Amino acid sequence: MSLLQGKVALITGASRGIGRAIATRFAQEGASIAFTYLSSVEKGQALETELSAFGVKVKGYRSDASDFKAAEELVNQIVADFGTIDAVINNAGITRDGLLMRMSEEQWDVVINVNLKSVFNLTKAVIKPMMKAKKGSIINLTSVVGIRGNAGQANYAASKAGIIGFTKSVALELGSRNIRSNAIAPGFIETEMTGEINDKAVEEWKQSIPLKRGGQPEEVADCALFLASDLSRYITGQVLQVDGGMLT
Ligand code: NAP
Repeated sequence: MSLLQGKVALITGASRGIGRAIATRFAQEGASIAFTYLSSVEKGQALETELSAFGVKVKGYRSDASDFKAAEELVNQIVADFGTIDAVINNAGITRDGLLMRMSEEQWDVVINVNLKSVFNLTKAVIKPMMKAKKGSIINLTSVVGIRGNAGQANYAASKAGIIGFTKSVALELGSRNIRSNAIAPGFIETEMTGEINDKAVEEWKQSIPLKRGGQPEEVADCALFLASDLSRYITGQVLQVDGGMLT
């Protein structure tokens, strides 16, 4: 029996990287997939075709996760298209790195809006259908950087730490409605996001990881699969690290 048979999942930022791997893994497990993208239009459209091959219902939506009104309209459209939303994976995220001394207001604002405000936007919109259905799983992508901080990423770390506080608060507020809220904290995962880091820094990161390698998007997707499925039905308010032991 497939783990997500009969469930509808919304994944934000699925045109590339971890979001794409989550959408693919969920489709393999029988979920109907609603996903979003923003600038990677061709990749988003290609994913829709690719996932349809698993024989599940799939629809991609071009939508800016940092836009409150757009998130509300998106969720209304998905409920009209799919009937309900059982799991939301708030994955859309960006970096605009720099030391605080040189960080602009724009660098701060855009990272907080895309990474943190988006989680508020989408979660606020999806809890309506979830409360109606008396069930739901909210899964937010934070980072080990949100737990321990990182030089050159004060904006990103603040956005990811904010997600942890938000995730736990939602778990407390909505547990009685059978809606679970958890976060995944990846360590160093090999995607376009980390592709920007220079080779020497990458080598240093890898040496500091007990498993001595970077993670793959599929390894984060397996954790998301667990949290979206009924296998995790008694787990809420948690931050699961997928980091090869980096932060132990
Ligand atoms: P990525 O390869 O850069 O992909 C980011 C995705 O987010 C893209 O699909 C992008 O879509 C989408 N996106 C960006 N801004 C958006 C917006 N305003 N609205 C909707 N979608 C938007 O990143 P990744 O490495 O897969 O990371 C995914 C998540 O995991 C992020 O939240 C990241 O912070 C977190 N994470 C990653 C790592 C890592 O090592 N890679 C570690 C810890 C946490 P378009 O291209 O279509 O705009």
